[in-house]
Amino acid sequence: MSHSNVPLISNLFQQTDHFPFADLHFWNDPKCQLQAIIAIHNTTAGPALGGCRMFPYASTENALIDVLNLAMGMGYKAAINQLPFGGGKSVIIQPGLIKNRQALMESFGRFVDSLGGRYITAMDVGTETNDMDNISHFTQHVTCTSEQRKGTGDPSPYTAKGVFRGIQAATKFLFHTKQLSGIHVVVQGLGHVGYELLQLLHDAGARLTVSDIDKTTVKHCIDEFSADSVAPEKVYEVECDIFSPCAMGQILNPETIQQLKTRAIAGAANNQLLDKQQGEALRKKHILYTPDYIINSGGLLQIAYSDNQQLNNKIDALYNTLLGIFYEAEAQHKATNMIADEMAEHLLEKQVMIETKQKKIEMVPEPIERLQA
Ligand code: NAD
Repeated sequence: MSHSNVPLISNLFQQTDHFPFADLHFWNDPKCQLQAIIAIHNTTAGPALGGCRMFPYASTENALIDVLNLAMGMGYKAAINQLPFGGGKSVIIQPGLIKNRQALMESFGRFVDSLGGRYITAMDVGTETNDMDNISHFTQHVTCTSEQRKGTGDPSPYTAKGVFRGIQAATKFLFHTKQLSGIHVVVQGLGHVGYELLQLLHDAGARLTVSDIDKTTVKHCIDEFSADSVAPEKVYEVECDIFSPCAMGQILNPETIQQLKTRAIAGAANNQLLDKQQGEALRKKHILYTPDYIINSGGLLQIAYSDNQQLNNKIDALYNTLLGIFYEAEAQHKATNMIADEMAEHLLEKQVMIETKQKKIEMVPEPIERLQA
């Protein structure tokens, strides 16, 4: 254990104190350059399901905080959508230069398999379908594998579809219309989800402004979607109807919120709020916040529903779920993230109550005479 990790270990229980977590697992395989963490938020309704993020974290602590927040989001997402899954997530600390990506992913597959199915992994930022295929060489507890391996593939188009429905819910609430023609949307992050979302928004006639740290991607999207562009550091200042964060998390913080000139936030990124209080800061600025773990549920729904019609209905239903949250928040003078959290926590508590009752029934002790016989 390196010296720099000492404060992290001494704070470990404080870190997890903020979250009602089930368990945390660490894996170190220097031969394959793998350092990974799996966080399981809960397994009450079923195995913990959530993607594997590979990112060049500046520190182990940053990786740990990210995986805890992400796993909690997955727990709430599965609960709100009433799916037979718990919440979990994993992170791989991306090495400077990956020597053998297949070996790294296969080692991660062994890590996932060591949990015996308590955690099911999937794609996230920094991982691809091909990585899921390599993971599947060593575990069956993996989704988003390719068609050749009978998998569900990339969930991003479904996530984008859900975000599109969320944007429609926001415009309905604010402007009393689902039509997006002429609505100005700023999309931050033009990756798997951002790109698919742009396609849908463009088809619906929205006015688009795009931003990404990758200049080639920006140029491509300007040409393909007749979009304007803005530099990453200026993105929060753009006057628009909808700001759609589709890159990384914690981008809604005191510094960025004071720059925002939008009427609503509706995007795919996980953990958009630096902390819960930022939801209230947005409410005070009359900016409608669309809770991230609901609007970005489409990918999880794709994994849960194999029937296309059922899947599309479930994604479409996000529109009403979100609209309901907006109205409830307005009626209670509360931030939308608080209303969503209360809903998710209520559903999780119900699951625990049912599970505890079932366990109690199963655990009725054998009569003494029978044990002695
Ligand atoms: P991705 O890695 O394919 O795309 C992310 C994009 O953001 C990249 O183009 C990257 O260059 C860009 N980016 C990074 N930092 C940026 C910055 N500071 N400013 C502007 N652009 C920046 O990821 P993705 O799969 O599209 O996912 C995007 C977000 O949505 C992530 O937060 C992810 O966790 C979340 N999400 C994705 C899915 C899914 O199905 N892919 C599902 C739920 C949630």
